[in-house]
Amino acid sequence: MTKLSPAAPTPDSLRAAIAALKDPASGRSLAEAGLIESIQVQGGLVQVSLLTDRANAARMEPVREEVERLIAAEPGVKNVAAILTAHKAPAPAAPAAPASAGKPVLLQDVRAIVAVASGKGGVGKSTVSVNLAVALAQMGLKVGLLDADIYGPSLPRMLGLTRKPEVRGDRMIPLPAWGLKAMSIGFLVEEETPMIWRGPMVMGALEQMMGQVEWGPLDIMIVDMPPGTGDAQLTMAQRVTLAGAVIVSTPQDVALLDARRGVRMFERTKVPVLGLIENMSFFCCPNCNHQTNIFGHGGAKNEAARLGTEFLGEIPILLDIRTAADAGTPIVATDPDGIAAKSYAAIAKRLWEKVSGAGDQKPGPRIVID
Ligand code: ADP
Repeated sequence: MTKLSPAAPTPDSLRAAIAALKDPASGRSLAEAGLIESIQVQGGLVQVSLLTDRANAARMEPVREEVERLIAAEPGVKNVAAILTAHKAPAPAAPAAPASAGKPVLLQDVRAIVAVASGKGGVGKSTVSVNLAVALAQMGLKVGLLDADIYGPSLPRMLGLTRKPEVRGDRMIPLPAWGLKAMSIGFLVEEETPMIWRGPMVMGALEQMMGQVEWGPLDIMIVDMPPGTGDAQLTMAQRVTLAGAVIVSTPQDVALLDARRGVRMFERTKVPVLGLIENMSFFCCPNCNHQTNIFGHGGAKNEAARLGTEFLGEIPILLDIRTAADAGTPIVATDPDGIAAKSYAAIAKRLWEKVSGAGDQKPGPRIVID
């Protein structure tokens, strides 16, 4: 039933609802201590950002929960996410501190964490992340899939998941799908809601999806990164020990230029680049198997050679990949013998060899970007 507008929550009404809560550090109210950084309201969905010092983050956690409880009880509120943010986001250009500096390293039960990144959106990074993760699970590995693309979370749609994760105590249980465990901010907010994130909020949301989710021991976690370079990349580099990053690109030159930026970002944060994947590499006619190189096939292979990193493989452009992704049924699971599944499986196998040390992996050459 639609609520009448007088009941619609506003940032001011919600601020008033939580203003009197006490800051455990100073004993003053949240309002007096100036800790309510922002409240955003959109169609009944509320995002609250609470400021905290890193040292007080643990003590602020019950306050964050209370904020969510109080705001959820306000008329017209359908969903609320309160996030703790540190006073200052680190300067993006600063070299990342080692993961252990100051704060506990998150996800210590995960043997290898692999970031899947791209320099720009729309190159098929999420589709690659999902299918690689499913292919790794098909190899018998314990796999987690974390959607760090908080600006445009697409994992719920691609995995066909519409329910919300269960909460036990102060931890969320990742959703099982296609043999893996998945977590996405998209499970918590509605898909159509445009997300406006500022630096500290990005870090807070990511840290919660890593630190407050019951992932359990995993062999490998695939992290679908937001496109481009920035806060999310930095957070990952600082808060977990990444086995490395995989860069997805289409063969087009422009996309490759963007891929180079992605590579450079990880280089700067001392995260090894495990290799490049060329997506939408060639078109294979489903009727006659004729191969057409729509975008000039092979760009990523040459680029990988130039950058001194490994070319991990190529994936054709196929209507079935898109329709399967749109239907929430990853093609690796639904057509495991098809050409697409074989491409993903080969890349998954090589990736696992590299990160588990099972293959002929030696530390790759340093990547030099001009
Ligand atoms: P990104 O995460 O880089 O923004 P997505 O994974 O969301 O990109 O993919 C963008 C669109 O391209 C989606 O509609 C997806 O289904 C489609 N797509 C991705 N890879 C392929 C492919 N190899 N063949 C056909 N369509 C693809």
